[in-house]
Amino acid sequence: MSAFPTQAQVVIIGGGVGGASIAYHLTKMGWKDVVIVEKHELTSGSTWHSAGLVGQMRSDANLTRMMHYSTDLYRSLKAETGQDTSWREVGGLRLASSFERMEENRRLVGMARSFGVPMEMISAKEAQDMFPLMDIKGVVGAAYTPNDGSIDPTGLTNALAIGAKNRGAQILLYTTVTGINLKNGRVHEVVTDKGTIKTEIVVNASGMWGREIGKMVGLSLPVIPMAHLYILTKPIEGVTNKFPNLRDPDLLVYWREEVGGLVTGGYERQPATFGLNGIPKDFKYQLLNPDWDRFTPLMENSIRRVPAVENAEVKMLLNGPEGFTPDGEFLLGPTSVKGFWVACAFCAHGLAGAGGIGKVMAEWIIDGSPEWDMW
Ligand SMILES: Cc1cc2nc3c(=O)[nH]c(=O)nc-3n(C[C@H](O)[C@H](O)[C@H](O)COP(=O)(O)OP(=O)(O)OC[C@H]3O[C@@H](n4cnc5c(N)ncnc54)[C@H](O)[C@@H]3O)c2cc1C
Repeated sequence: MSAFPTQAQVVIIGGGVGGASIAYHLTKMGWKDVVIVEKHELTSGSTWHSAGLVGQMRSDANLTRMMHYSTDLYRSLKAETGQDTSWREVGGLRLASSFERMEENRRLVGMARSFGVPMEMISAKEAQDMFPLMDIKGVVGAAYTPNDGSIDPTGLTNALAIGAKNRGAQILLYTTVTGINLKNGRVHEVVTDKGTIKTEIVVNASGMWGREIGKMVGLSLPVIPMAHLYILTKPIEGVTNKFPNLRDPDLLVYWREEVGGLVTGGYERQPATFGLNGIPKDFKYQLLNPDWDRFTPLMENSIRRVPAVENAEVKMLLNGPEGFTPDGEFLLGPTSVKGFWVACAFCAHGLAGAGGIGKVMAEWIIDGSPEWDMW
């Protein structure tokens, strides 16, 4: 076992998919003296219970570029690291159930194609041919992305961590960051329950704990933990592993195939916060109580678009927390405290975003600015 490092070029707080990807990319760009500090095990925060969808279409060109980069990376990670990630390139459909949404889809497809994402507009019938259990009543058309996919969140995180370790990164598990000392207004030391690490750069990749870590340097970061819900069904007749991921933004619901059944969840109009007065101290690999009352509107919308969900046997209703920001986008970049960087609150699309997030953060830290404009 390696000795506890007393100094490092960069300390990353958090061993979820975000922290692992940042370490992967920093080491890929040549920095070796990189340490991840994780209070439990890799993925034990929000990452392990992710629904596994990797979609590329976002409302902003550079966010779409980040997701596109992620898919390219995820396709190649197993060959590079030997770690299976269960990457499945099943494609993705984004329905338009209104003319306004259709316009939006057209605009986003045009934008994404301009930098090489192979998206195309298809008819409602063509979408149904790919996902035959879908009721296309009210569907005007769809955007189709053939290289969207799904991935095992634990496999992905482990692969990124292996890549980082192979290039020199050190990962400290069961090590809790308890403080960050500043000197002359900039990051100087990270204090943990196992010892202190001298460093000039700290990356706060602690997900929904982002606000708590921010307080250690006197910052009030806009990170709010929220509960996110999805169900996993037993096999449903007619579902095959050829089904693309499906999203209906007008109904706020998504679906993806899993062992002959469906994962279906979505975004609530009245989401529930979690741990606003502090996340319970030993919160690891934990879920919140299944909340059928809150899930009911999503379930109704899911059934509306995919009627077979109504009679499907539900294996579980998963209720898991994750960090969100007020604008629903990632919190990334430098802060007013010199040497203190943030990469947290991934708003329920951090699995898809992690590849791009790692690249952007590594370029920003090493080169001073990322390839793509993040403002
Ligand atoms: C139910 C659900 C479904 C989702 N489905 C999808 C999906 O289909 N597709 C998608 O793209 N995204 C999805 N997401 C989002 C995705 O899972 C998250 O965005 C991502 O996993 C967050 O990763 P992270 O590294 O930021 O956080 P985490 O995985 O939470 O990692 C942060 C780590 O920091 C550690 N930490 C905290 N405080 C300290 C400390 N003081 N010292 C040391 N370590 C510390 C924690 O232990 C934790 O392991 C989903 C989220 C939820 C909740």
